[in-house]
Formats: sequence, C-alpha cells, structure tokens
Amino acid sequence: MTTAVREVSVFGDGIAYFNEAANLLELDSTMRAILTHPTRQIIFSIPFQRDNGEFEVYTGYRVQYSFARGPAKGGIRFHPGVTLDEVTALAFWMTWKCAVVDLPFGGGKGGVTCDPSKLSQNELERITRRYAAELVEVVGPDKDVPAPDVNTNPQTMAWFMDTYSMHMRQTIPGVVTGKPLAIGGSKGRVEATGRGVMICGMDELANMGIAPKDARIVIQGFGNVGMWAARLFAERGCKVVGISDVTGAYYNESGIDVDKACELVEKDRNLGAFRGGDKISNAELLVADCDVLVPAALEKVLTAENASKVKAKLIVEGANGPTTPDADRIFNERGITVIPDIMANAGGVTVSYFEWVQDRMGYFWKLSEVNERLEDTLITNFHELRGIANRHKIPYRTAAYMTAIDRVVQALRLRGVYA
Ligand code: NAD
Repeated sequence: MTTAVREVSVFGDGIAYFNEAANLLELDSTMRAILTHPTRQIIFSIPFQRDNGEFEVYTGYRVQYSFARGPAKGGIRFHPGVTLDEVTALAFWMTWKCAVVDLPFGGGKGGVTCDPSKLSQNELERITRRYAAELVEVVGPDKDVPAPDVNTNPQTMAWFMDTYSMHMRQTIPGVVTGKPLAIGGSKGRVEATGRGVMICGMDELANMGIAPKDARIVIQGFGNVGMWAARLFAERGCKVVGISDVTGAYYNESGIDVDKACELVEKDRNLGAFRGGDKISNAELLVADCDVLVPAALEKVLTAENASKVKAKLIVEGANGPTTPDADRIFNERGITVIPDIMANAGGVTVSYFEWVQDRMGYFWKLSEVNERLEDTLITNFHELRGIANRHKIPYRTAAYMTAIDRVVQALRLRGVYA
C-alpha cells in the first residue's frame, strides 16, 4: 500500500520533507513505519439519482491518517482528479499541520471523484448525504471531523451535519467545521487562512527588519486564501504589487487597488476584467520584482526551473505543497526565507478547531475573540519554530516537520503501540 501511495508525486514531496526531519530527530524505524502508513483508508460506492431520473455510481473516500493526538481532522474534496493516493497524501499533511500548531487533532481527508461543475445543487446534496451516510459509524466529534475543501463549502457541511444528525436522532453540530454561522459555524472562519498567512508574513517581515510600508507583496491565486491575504496585508500598510488567477496575472509597481480587485471577483468570480495593472503571464508573476511572494493557488508551482529567478526575499506558502523539494533547496542556498504551508496556512484549521470547541460548549465567541486566539496560537507556535530553526541553523520547513513529528511521536510513545 505504501508503494502505491508514494507514486503520487505530491505525497512523494511530503515523504521527502518528512524523511529529512526524521533523520535529524534520529527517529527509530518503528515510528517511521507507523508514521508513513495511514491508519485507516475507506473506499465506498455512492449510487445516486441524476435530476433526469438516471442512476450513476461515484466513488467516495475517507482517509484517517492518524488519531495519535485526537480525532482525525481534514476537508472533503469534490473533484474529477480525486484518488485514494491524493486523499492519503492530503491526510498525511493534515497530521503535521494540526501538530505544528498544537491542536488536539490527528489528520484526515476525504473526497468524491466527480465533476461538480456538471452537477446541480440537488445532485450535489444527494451525493453529500449519501457520502455522509456511508461514514456515520466512523465520523463524529470524537472520531473524525470533516470540513470543506476544493469545491465543497458551508452548504455542503450543512447537508453533512444534517444527515449525520438524522442518523444519530439528535443535532450534533461538532461533527463538521466550516458550517454556516446559523447552525454552529464560527465567526472569522472564512477569512482565517488568509489571516494566518498575513500574521506569519508580518511577523517574519518584522524579524527581517522590513517595515510594512517597504514590503511589496505578490500573490498568486485570488480565491479565498489569496483575496483575504491581499486585503489584510494591505490593511497593515504593505503594498500589494501583483495578483493573479486563472485569467492571468496583473502587476502594478505603484500598488494594486485590492478593494477594487476583490469587488470584481465578488461580481464576476474572476479577475478577467481587471484593468488596474499590466497584464503579464502567471509564470512571469512568480519571478516578478517583490519582497514577499505568496503562492495561494496550486501545488508544485515553484520548481527547479523558476526557483533561481524568484526575486522575493520571503515566501509565505498559502497553498498546500506549492514548492518542490528541488526548489526548496535552491531557496535555502539563495538565503530566501520560506514559511512552509503547514505553518503558513494553518489559520484555517485553527479556527476550525475553535468552531469545534464552541459547538461542544454551545457558547459562541465574538469575532475579536476568535482573531485574538488565532493570532496567539499562530505566533506562539511560529516563534517556537524560529527558536528551533535558529538553534539548529535549519530552514523553517525542517523545523516545522521536526516539531510536528516530535509532538505526534510523543503522543504515540505515551499511548504505546497496541500490538
Ligand atoms: P480557491 O478555489 O478559492 O482559489 C484558488 C485561486 O487560484 C483562484 O483564484 C483560481 O483562479 C487561482 N488559480 C488556479 N489556477 C491558477 C494558476 N495556474 N495561476 C494562478 N492562479 C490560479 O481556493 P482557496 O481556498 O483559496 O485555496 C488555495 C490554496 O490554499 C489551495 O492549495 C488550498 O489547498 C490551500 N488552502 C486553503 C485553505 C482554506 O481555508 N481555503 C486552507 C489551507 C490551505
């Protein structure tokens, strides 16, 4: 099973980063074996009826990679490219992300191989309900807590929560996070990942001695993460000089009008009609003149081909897996600081954790309280990584994996292996 999983290149990148940190920690072979195998992988059929009355059968997955530190935690993806291997890789990543910000969760991920752009809302609801019904025994606030991911959203979570609650004969909001506010969602969840990117980025700029007014920011991807990161960096006095999405990239050395760009995306759902900057290619944007580069779109965009041309002094990984290990090596050699995905985009899962806590308490916090706790969690853990990185003279990424692996291993050792 491990061999098949390793064929997925994104997971291969994850394993490469894991091994580097495991070597520095001198991790024994038992722990390495346990941590490179998912605890549980579930595959099931989702028969459902199209609006035209015909039946189709899709495949659903849920991978619960680790329970060592608590219930599994991770999103559900609806996409034609979903495979068991991809879901496993993403669940592996969630394990380290939750541990690096010290949340009492393991790692999980799920998905359905389908193309949501060809499905109606009613069809998506039927798929979601059947998906949730198949998982009733293995999810729950103390077992596994899903959330939205690519092509799923608060409405998907509302259907999931309702289906699970119907089977349990009681309302259980804590079974998923990322819900609408009216049924137990948390204030601040929508912007949490972008806010986390900004918090880590601003803290590192201060550490590097760069004043906000002198920080020129480029953001690749203008969706949930990129838009909020752009807004919040601008709010803190930084100058956003470049943005991009599937329609192309836009660069303006005197500063992009971020509010205008956001308004446009809210109206058109893309930047196609944006005229507030010179149109350049997506590839050019990644190597454009700037101080901070925030990849917030896809994985594997910073590679051995473009890493030597990147001009940024600081890279803050909003996306999951945007930097290949080869590119990472080049950045380290060139002295470019990288705040790795498992730290930089952990704001989302942190506020998901707050949502789960609020659901279980039945008591909901003010937005200012959510944001203060988010900042405290991210800064405390980021400063811990900085201490380790400085002490061992290693990059943040290695420090982040070392910290995460060490925390999971501590839990495993205390619990023992039930063999
Ligand atoms: P999204 O779908 O809202 O936005 C993605 C953006 O990337 C869109 O603007 C899209 O047009 C753009 N894009 C796609 N291909 C591109 C390309 N080739 N060049 C430039 N732009 C391109 O997604 P999101 O929620 O913002 O997630 C972005 C990344 O952040 C993903 O890697 C995701 O896994 C990661 N992430 C998201 C969250 C979250 O809470 N939303 C949390 C952690 C990590």
